[in-house]
Amino acid sequence: MRDGAQALLLTDVTKRFGGLVAVDALDLSVDYGSVHAIIGPNGAGKSTVANLVTGVYRPGSGSVAFEGTELSTRRPHDIARLGVARTFQTPQLFSSETVLENVKAGFADTASLPWWKASLKPPGQYRREAELDRDARALLARVGLAHDERTLAGALAYGKARALEIARALARQPRLLILDEPAAGLNSTEVAVLGELLMELRRDGMALVVVEHHMDLVASVADVVTCMAEGRVLARGTAAEVLADQEVVAAYLGR
Ligand code: ADP
Ligand code: MG
Repeated sequence: MRDGAQALLLTDVTKRFGGLVAVDALDLSVDYGSVHAIIGPNGAGKSTVANLVTGVYRPGSGSVAFEGTELSTRRPHDIARLGVARTFQTPQLFSSETVLENVKAGFADTASLPWWKASLKPPGQYRREAELDRDARALLARVGLAHDERTLAGALAYGKARALEIARALARQPRLLILDEPAAGLNSTEVAVLGELLMELRRDGMALVVVEHHMDLVASVADVVTCMAEGRVLARGTAAEVLADQEVVAAYLGR
């Protein structure tokens, strides 16, 4: 992955649910080494975009391409193997497993792809469990869970569960990471830690899509902001440009 090279390209993507057009002729691109934030009121189609990219839904029409590979006909598992990871709006963890086991499950899912961080190896090369433990612990430290590895995931406070979800997604060695409302329910310290992590991943050259309502976070991490409303792009630009847009303000205030 090269900084500035295009990772993801959505072209004229439409998704309907019955009579409802959830995503309407959407164009969107994300480069390596950058954060593309998607904002917009509830029901705008933001999570549907995440689901279209990760194969949970198939577009009715249009193209979803990752590194030039068409994703729209592929299954979630294949898309994950190509190097796309995501977190969900509601954390999806193995609640009766420990924090450490949850991250290790992420490694176990991974295919032998080039790793964005040279210090970690593809799973086929793990000769000893100890090595896997060490790499899982390194990821836990990275997301601020160094002292929680023995805790059952189901017993984690909400903010920590969100952090664990990110660690597990990172264990999959993605080149494109999609986070659906990662700051929702976090306290201000946790949001700051999340912001630091996103900037670090961006510096590592990862391509990031962040669906988010937390505007301070968006303003501090996003290279490009797209505001969606009713499935369409209402505004796109820098955070400063988009947040100053009268239509964006009106969409958020419901006017
Ligand atoms: P956002 O994440 O921006 O709040 P969503 O992408 O979740 O919005 O939803 C966009 C629209 O599509 C909403 O009106 C929602 O009710 C609808 N929708 C999303 N998923 C489904 C589904 N599986 N079946 C029917 N309607 C859906
Ligand atoms: Mg959503």
